Amino acid sequence: METKQFKAESKRLLDMMINSIYTHKEIFLREVISNASDAIDKLYFKSLTDTSIGMKKDDFFIRITADKEARTLTVSDNGIGMTEEDLENNLGTIASSGSLAFKSENDLGEDVDIIGQFGVGFYSTFMVAKEVTVITKAYGSDKAYKWTSDGVEGYTVEECEKDAAGTDVILTLKDDTDDEKYSDYLETFRIRTLVKKYSDYIRFPIKMLCENPHYSEDKEEPDIVLEDEILNSMTPIWKKNKKELTDEDYNNFYIDKFMDYTAPLAHIHAKNEGTATYDALLYIPSRAPFDFYSKDYEKGLQLYSSGVMIMDKCSDLLPDHFSFVKGLVDSEDLSLNISREMLQHDRQLKLIAKNIERSIKNELTKMLKNDREKYEKFFDVFGLQLKFGIYQNYSLAADSVKDLLLFASSFVDDTPAEGDDKEKKSYSPKKTTLAEYVSRMKEDQDAIYYACGESKAKIEMLPVFEKIKEKGYEVLFFTQDVDEFAIKVMMKYDDKPFRSITDANLDLDTEEEKEANKKTAEENKDMFEFMRDSLEGKVKEVRLSSRLKSHPVCLSSDGNVTIEMEKILNSLPQNEGKDIHAEKCLELNPGHPIFTKLTELFKSDKDKLAEYTKLLYSQALLIEGLSIEDPVAFADLICGLMV
Ligand code: ADP
Repeated sequence: METKQFKAESKRLLDMMINSIYTHKEIFLREVISNASDAIDKLYFKSLTDTSIGMKKDDFFIRITADKEARTLTVSDNGIGMTEEDLENNLGTIASSGSLAFKSENDLGEDVDIIGQFGVGFYSTFMVAKEVTVITKAYGSDKAYKWTSDGVEGYTVEECEKDAAGTDVILTLKDDTDDEKYSDYLETFRIRTLVKKYSDYIRFPIKMLCENPHYSEDKEEPDIVLEDEILNSMTPIWKKNKKELTDEDYNNFYIDKFMDYTAPLAHIHAKNEGTATYDALLYIPSRAPFDFYSKDYEKGLQLYSSGVMIMDKCSDLLPDHFSFVKGLVDSEDLSLNISREMLQHDRQLKLIAKNIERSIKNELTKMLKNDREKYEKFFDVFGLQLKFGIYQNYSLAADSVKDLLLFASSFVDDTPAEGDDKEKKSYSPKKTTLAEYVSRMKEDQDAIYYACGESKAKIEMLPVFEKIKEKGYEVLFFTQDVDEFAIKVMMKYDDKPFRSITDANLDLDTEEEKEANKKTAEENKDMFEFMRDSLEGKVKEVRLSSRLKSHPVCLSSDGNVTIEMEKILNSLPQNEGKDIHAEKCLELNPGHPIFTKLTELFKSDKDKLAEYTKLLYSQALLIEGLSIEDPVAFADLICGLMV
């Protein structure tokens, strides 16, 4: 018989697993039982709509058999089974298994811990077995197949006999060594403990013939009696009383069920009765899945109808702004054989989704209030998604999201504490909420000021920043592309408009200053026009600035597209060649010596003034982080001045 080779990536993983440390190895049982339970789920679900299957819930079970003589541990199920093709696809390569989602973010081999905490599905059996045999018959098929592998060379598949549909996974355990006693896995007590620890919530009975001691009065030694036992409690964790559950229970369930290997930041266990009856178990992960911010990411919660899983990722249960939430919802209000299309319009489901959104919002609000440090950690990972949510559909997201946003700001000191400060137990926030910003607003301040830029340091270098700071106004630092887009959609918070500090209409002057500026502007009107014309359409206007303190020039924008947005929009691939422009204005600082120089040149040397104008414009572009169109000409102009 031909031995087929494992795919390359499977081989690497196998190598790594076989060498993983002993304490991690026990999770193989959880993995095999999980698979058995999934397979039963599939057939059970089918049986609910197809009476010809003729099986009731009570007919389904998983059985563990330990054979000490043969050194085999067998896990059998009467679930859906696998066809020959399934065997090839599912067990021939682990790349097809969802478990490998972490593979692309973690270079395999470097983090062996992953295996211990997370498991890598079926292949984890090779951590304890020197040979694995899978005998399986797919439901509805009359052929059964036997798959065998030593986990090293490859595998073989041949036809075999099997009565009923389902799968037996037979593990021939490795030989014991001084350090590792694989035969432990054949002991009743060990198996019972492992099932309790990892698989207690499995909703089908996990049966085993157990060797139980029976004591009697007339004998000193107990009789060992073989008894059929159900090892798991079968109550799904979400049906249990919250009081009975520890954080560890919740976290173990999460790690096992939701393809993550780090404990979540928080869980929400909601039990709801009334207009919508459901149990929900929701988790806020502590890290984003590797594909989270890509279009491949699929949001959704598992959906159960009275304990039967009917959908793996029900996207209608989660709004986009909370797409990072993992978990499940179990409701008796939903019909079992409801289709995806019907679900979308289901009133009950909509009601549940509304409630779920509220629960998530409340949980995050609570975290923000009671554990700022944790919340900021959360926001660092998923804050971007909240902002995307606003941008995509603010009318839907507003209520849930606006008070959950955090921004860096000129008020908050985000430099790490030094010396004595370090000792302080209380955490000092690194970012501000909008409510906090508003509470600090100056009496005469009528807008929420923000500035866009690559980094806080770059924003602080913006010429206009100085002036705002002098006024005592706080500035939000928008360092993520989506920031400005999001607040443009919001327009206001608490009735206060958002305003960019590069906004041309920023009104910061006193009446006297305004008067004086108006006069200077009037006097220099012709020069401004000359300068504008010498820039050949690059700016809409050259004008006086009231926003500059020590810098000679800055750029500002009129209209809806700001300079930051211009940068972002032009960098998007779909806008290539479109050349989107902010309407730019070149603003001059009348208090700067350069201004005096310009007025002199306007009288004496217009050609030179034209050159200076180009220079100043280029400088302003550079300060804004935009590129200058003709760097060579710019350099030549500067050299001309130097010699
Ligand atoms: P995962 O369960 O994460 O998809 P596994 O490596 O554990 O990855 O399993 C791979 C696939 O093999 C499963 O998705 C399933 O299709 C199939 N499989 C494994 N065990 C069984 C079983 N007992 N019955 C039916 N199919 C199974």
